[in-house]
Amino acid sequence: MSSTTQQHFLVGKRIIVAGAGIGGTVFCIALQQFLEKHGQHIQPSPLIDVYERETSMNVVGREGYSISIRSDGISEGMQTLQKLGLLDEMIAESNPGMNYTLFNADFIPLMEPKVPPIEGLPQTTMRIARTKLREILIKHMPSFAKIHWNCGITSAHELENGQVLVDLANGNQEQCDLLIVADGSNSKIRTILRPQHKLNFVGAISIMARTHPLEKFPPPLNITWGRAFSGDGNFLFIAPSDRTSAVWIVSYLSDTPRETKVAGTMSDVELDEILAEAKERTKSYSEPMPMLLKQTLPSSVAISNAKEVTPFRNHGSVIFIGDAQHAISSFGGNGANMAIMDGYQLAEQLVNANSLTEAIKAYDDQTIPRSEKAIQMSHQLIAVGHSHGEWKNLWQQS
Ligand SMILES: Cc1cc2nc3c(=O)[nH]c(=O)nc-3n(C[C@H](O)[C@H](O)[C@H](O)COP(=O)(O)OP(=O)(O)OC[C@H]3O[C@@H](n4cnc5c(N)ncnc54)[C@H](O)[C@@H]3O)c2cc1C
Repeated sequence: MSSTTQQHFLVGKRIIVAGAGIGGTVFCIALQQFLEKHGQHIQPSPLIDVYERETSMNVVGREGYSISIRSDGISEGMQTLQKLGLLDEMIAESNPGMNYTLFNADFIPLMEPKVPPIEGLPQTTMRIARTKLREILIKHMPSFAKIHWNCGITSAHELENGQVLVDLANGNQEQCDLLIVADGSNSKIRTILRPQHKLNFVGAISIMARTHPLEKFPPPLNITWGRAFSGDGNFLFIAPSDRTSAVWIVSYLSDTPRETKVAGTMSDVELDEILAEAKERTKSYSEPMPMLLKQTLPSSVAISNAKEVTPFRNHGSVIFIGDAQHAISSFGGNGANMAIMDGYQLAEQLVNANSLTEAIKAYDDQTIPRSEKAIQMSHQLIAVGHSHGEWKNLWQQS
């Protein structure tokens, strides 16, 4: 604050956060830290209510894939978790393997992009089960932020006095001074308040699943994870999904999206068909892929369409962050890193800025260029990874 006479715009305000996902929880943890460090003059400090559609058990129990947290250029999830004091706890719970590798269909490495060591960081990347990451974030939620589980936000209205009214799934309405929208790529609130910013299909379809617990990870999963390229249009991703199981994702290009299938919702006949399709699509890949297919947990099989939201600027008293503001398909391997950085930087700007407008502008100036770049990189990977023939030759010659 430049003036000691002017009251900070957060004093005594009520904030509602939509979604206790990655961005929403990081925002709350970071806000507490910035208020403690730089916000002693913000008294009474703001009160936060977080409304989360899922139950706490669903949130930490159902998401069977892992996430790579990075420290390169635009993706600074590692550095941000360190600033929050959470990195060591996350590393202790992370999966085996510390680097990403791009393989050919025989799992011979084509590229091992490595970030040079960064001073002060114990390691430059980690792969962690999404459930573990969220469990740790939820554990560190500050006491002034109350999570209302199993209580989604069904609608929101921007009022003339600048406040926001939200409708809750339990039939109640709540009013707040600031609504932080962190409800993910399918954001209900975005479709209501910013309908022009749509979630668009970007031309790739993924079949994914994880395995039963394995006795030990087969090579190369015992030391690394990554993508494998066959040159026949079927791109493969394999990684430990936690400390005992692996996740595989095979993807292909399509002009139109496919009906999505959520894990655990398919009949045995459908599952057999999808697993037969996955076997056919991965027939050019050597071990460990056939073994991972054999060990697949049927209830984990899912089909998804790669989608994204072109990043957009915020205004008024509703601030979109994470996937709700700039969803990136999983080909970016970046969305969680972006959500972590968004939550942290929004909290920082809100505490340090002189006005809400200034805070929102400073936040958008940080998040929009990096998410545009991440989306651009995901497009390149989609194009190269699913291409036929010529790229295969190019990599083999290099
Ligand atoms: C298979 C796969 C692999 C991925 N791998 C990586 C990776 O390696 N690295 C990486 O950085 N990113 C990765 N991502 C992307 C990453 O998971 C997302 O970008 C990230 O979770 C976005 O965080 P968020 O906080 O914006 O949303 P989310 O973490 O999705 O959280 C949104 C929350 O809002 C809740 N919610 C939804 N609607 C409502 C509502 N109406 N009211 C209240 N609550 C609501 C949801 O239940 C959820 O808890 C991957 C994604 C997938 C699918």
